[in-house]
Amino acid sequence: MPTDVVVVGAGPAGLTLANLLQRNGIGCVVLEARDRSYVEERQRAGVLDHFGGRVFAEAGLADQVLAGVPTQTFLEFRYEGEPRLLDIAALSDGRGGSIVPQQMLVRRLLTTFLDEGGDLRFNAKDVELHSLGGSPRVTYGDVSLDCSYVAGCDGFHGVSRRSIPEDELTTYTFDHGIGWYTMLADASPPKYPLMGIGRHGFAAQFPRGPVASRFYLQYKPGEEDPRAWTDDEAWDKLRLRLGDPSLGGTITDREVVEMRSFVVEPMAYEKLFLAGDAAHIITPMGAKGMNLAIADAYVLAGALTSAVRGDDTALRAYSDVCLRRTWDYQEFSRWFTEMVHDTSGDPFQRRLARARFDRLFTNRAAGVAFADMMAGVDLVS
Ligand SMILES: Cc1cc2nc3c(=O)[nH]c(=O)nc-3n(C[C@H](O)[C@H](O)[C@H](O)COP(=O)(O)OP(=O)(O)OC[C@H]3O[C@@H](n4cnc5c(N)ncnc54)[C@H](O)[C@@H]3O)c2cc1C
Repeated sequence: MPTDVVVVGAGPAGLTLANLLQRNGIGCVVLEARDRSYVEERQRAGVLDHFGGRVFAEAGLADQVLAGVPTQTFLEFRYEGEPRLLDIAALSDGRGGSIVPQQMLVRRLLTTFLDEGGDLRFNAKDVELHSLGGSPRVTYGDVSLDCSYVAGCDGFHGVSRRSIPEDELTTYTFDHGIGWYTMLADASPPKYPLMGIGRHGFAAQFPRGPVASRFYLQYKPGEEDPRAWTDDEAWDKLRLRLGDPSLGGTITDREVVEMRSFVVEPMAYEKLFLAGDAAHIITPMGAKGMNLAIADAYVLAGALTSAVRGDDTALRAYSDVCLRRTWDYQEFSRWFTEMVHDTSGDPFQRRLARARFDRLFTNRAAGVAFADMMAGVDLVS
């Protein structure tokens, strides 16, 4: 039986899209290369911005997705150890985000989709996309699915973007010249998301559920190899940069994060539409990666719903609408990155970054603009 949409990938983008399509009565099949436990346990992002929360509330999914999650109110910065609190909720007229670990969001979306009769196929190996310009067909193993549209939500390394002829895409990449080492640890979360800025380098501690924290440490690529650091060395650096001698715990995961940005244009080719990391990667500063994936899925769900019902105007505008937000967030993330990292080692630039940081606390308009980006650019009617 043909279906309206085949969604490739069951991450935040694919599962948000699948749930929204299901709510709109649009047929879809989700193909996921990995098994269920892998998908449900992959720990990455931790903040759902206000816009993302509204996407789920507007779809009637607030109870399933947002129940019991704490609101993000303040951000705490420690500049050379000196604490400063920025009241994001107050500066954005109450549009604070929610602290939602990505694996919790994925688990909830997955359960909701399956409980409501959704068709999600795990371990779908060797997915291939065919006839994207005519009647699309998606194959995996010996299964073949005919559909009207394909949603490529399979992340940076997925098959969807690779199925588009190279000369149809323009690719933009940027290396921020910073190294980030991230660790997940059984360590009490901070009261508020916490960032340490100073001459020893950037560090951060973000809540990941009631008993865990994700830590970040800036390192110098080419000069330092964080994989060679012992856990004790990493804790020493975190204690110094975050100004908290009591930090410690069992580190359960260590990863080097590439601080690079990537965007492809357009986010569509014939009847294939890219969403989330399949189309763009953003640095973690500003916590926009998962939120961009959700925003793409929101726009795509509305556009596909209209197209299946006979009007493809919104679908033709999909790429432009999402790219506007993507570049807005890329600019914000780069601006934020420069503010909290000593990227150049140049004293003049360090003073500029300090001025930018101080302005957030001394100039209400600057604080409001920052909080507005943290809340998410508003597209929901
Ligand atoms: C360590 C780390 C920390 C991060 N921290 C933050 C943060 O603090 N805030 C934030 O907003 N973002 C953060 N991000 C980014 C965020 O996690 C991503 O932007 C988000 O996961 C994108 O969602 P997605 O659905 O587009 O892609 P993904 O989450 O990558 O999901 C893609 C899915 O497609 C599946 N797939 C891949 N290939 C195929 C195939 N060929 N066939 C079928 N299925 C396939 C994958 O298995 C996966 O389930 C972080 C990322 C990392 C790695």
